[in-house]
Amino acid sequence: MVAGKVALVTGARRGIGLATARLLAAAGARVVLLNRAGDGDGSSLDELAGDLAASHATECLAVTADVADPSQLSDGYRAILKRFGRLDILVNNAGILGDARLGMIPDAMIRQVIDTNLIAVIANIQAASRLMRRSGGGAIVSVTSIVGLRGNPGQVVYAASKAGIVGATLSAAKELAADGIRVNAVAPGFIETDMIGHLGPEVTAERLDGIPLGRAGSAEEVAEAIVFLASERARYITGQVLGVDGGMVL
Ligand code: NDP
Repeated sequence: MVAGKVALVTGARRGIGLATARLLAAAGARVVLLNRAGDGDGSSLDELAGDLAASHATECLAVTADVADPSQLSDGYRAILKRFGRLDILVNNAGILGDARLGMIPDAMIRQVIDTNLIAVIANIQAASRLMRRSGGGAIVSVTSIVGLRGNPGQVVYAASKAGIVGATLSAAKELAADGIRVNAVAPGFIETDMIGHLGPEVTAERLDGIPLGRAGSAEEVAEAIVFLASERARYITGQVLGVDGGMVL
């Protein structure tokens, strides 16, 4: 129920973003994979887009842009408009951590995390909704975190950025409903991606202990929830934050 739609996924080079881009392409969507320029490790965005398009007989476009840089982001939207002339789905997935205890948080870190995780999400919602309105509607799904709902020591800035996504989602859902645009979020718990790779065995064991389903989630399991909310199957759902956390918030 996303076949033929044009879907933009931010942070699509790895993790949850790449899993979402794969699932959307497999379901027949035309996918824009947006990511900041990499540091040389891992696959190139162009290769990923080419492989996805070939394996699923669909069209994919790679856009290199830092979501926190307004001019790169607007160039990205220009490229989407030029190639597809429309946008139906936005997945606001790009995000970074910035872990530090209070009193030890550098100003630059505060700004980088808020710019990337929150301001860019709002900028994307603005730019995407302008395009969606022109074609009669669309669906926006943003990736928040259970940390934005529950807080976590050492993650004041990250939690604030993710809580901000919840407020933005609820307000945009109310504002954009009349334009046929649904706005939802997913709140993953502890998901096996590079983002949690730096955690030591003790912290990992402690996190796993707090998960009633007894294991970490996979990027694909989060992607399933995102694609559901983005699809016509969720046509009567807006303004929701869907936990994908194995029961971690219970
Ligand atoms: P990863 O670190 O594996 O992937 C993040 C992706 O976002 C990378 O491709 C990265 O690019 C890209 N990215 C980061 N900053 C920017 C930027 N400024 N502009 C464009 N692209 C950018 O993370 P996950 O897949 O784990 O996380 C995805 C989302 O899920 C994030 O918003 C995260 O906060 C959220 N989340 C993750 C959880 C987890 O347990 N993993 C739990 C809860 C929420 P690059 O390759 O260049 O680094």
